Amino acid sequence: MKEKILEMEEYAQERNVPIIEKKSIAFIMKYIKEHNVKNILEIGTAIGYSAILMASAKEDAFVTTIEKDEERYMEALKNVKACGFDKKVNVVFQDALDVNLSEDIKYDLIFIDAAKAQNTKFFEKYKYFLAKNGAIITDNLKFHGYVGERDKIESKNLKSLVGKIEDYIEFLKNNQEFKTTFYDIGDGLSVSIRNEE
Ligand code: SAM
Repeated sequence: MKEKILEMEEYAQERNVPIIEKKSIAFIMKYIKEHNVKNILEIGTAIGYSAILMASAKEDAFVTTIEKDEERYMEALKNVKACGFDKKVNVVFQDALDVNLSEDIKYDLIFIDAAKAQNTKFFEKYKYFLAKNGAIITDNLKFHGYVGERDKIESKNLKSLVGKIEDYIEFLKNNQEFKTTFYDIGDGLSVSIRNEE
């Protein structure tokens, strides 16, 4: 599997597919082990890199991951199979904002790593699927150092995207239902845990 992971890293670099930073996935894998996480939902599969690594963190970890880009979905399927993880990783080909998950299944960990401008929408939609004591982890809250530096950005699109990530951070900070801890790891991570009733 190690070789396959290296191959995926090379593939991602060559084709400009964004995948999680090593320090960030190491943090998440440690979290999975330490918090006895079993059932994981990931929004944004890309080629299956983080899904496979999260599934490998613990023998009984199972990942459902959603990807809307067909080419990446196909590549993820191929990679999951090559790692022998068909039974541990379920890749869903659909826009995560349109997916109807079974309300009977709850997730110990929800990892938001898709379109960054939609973070709040993903959070609001998927929080209902979080198990008691579960966590929602979001990646790229620094967005390559642009967050907090909007004045210096010239591109209108990038400025708008960074603005939306800043709004999401505010949304997390002011959220009465969840307590969020921010980590300066990799490209910036947050862990949100529902306050006890
Ligand atoms: N989690 C992956 C990893 O670390 O290996 C990287 C995911 S990449 C940062 C984000 C992915 O989310 C892209 O492949 C993109 O096509 C997908 N995506 C963006 N918006 C989405 C949506 N609404 N539904 C499903 N997938 C989405």
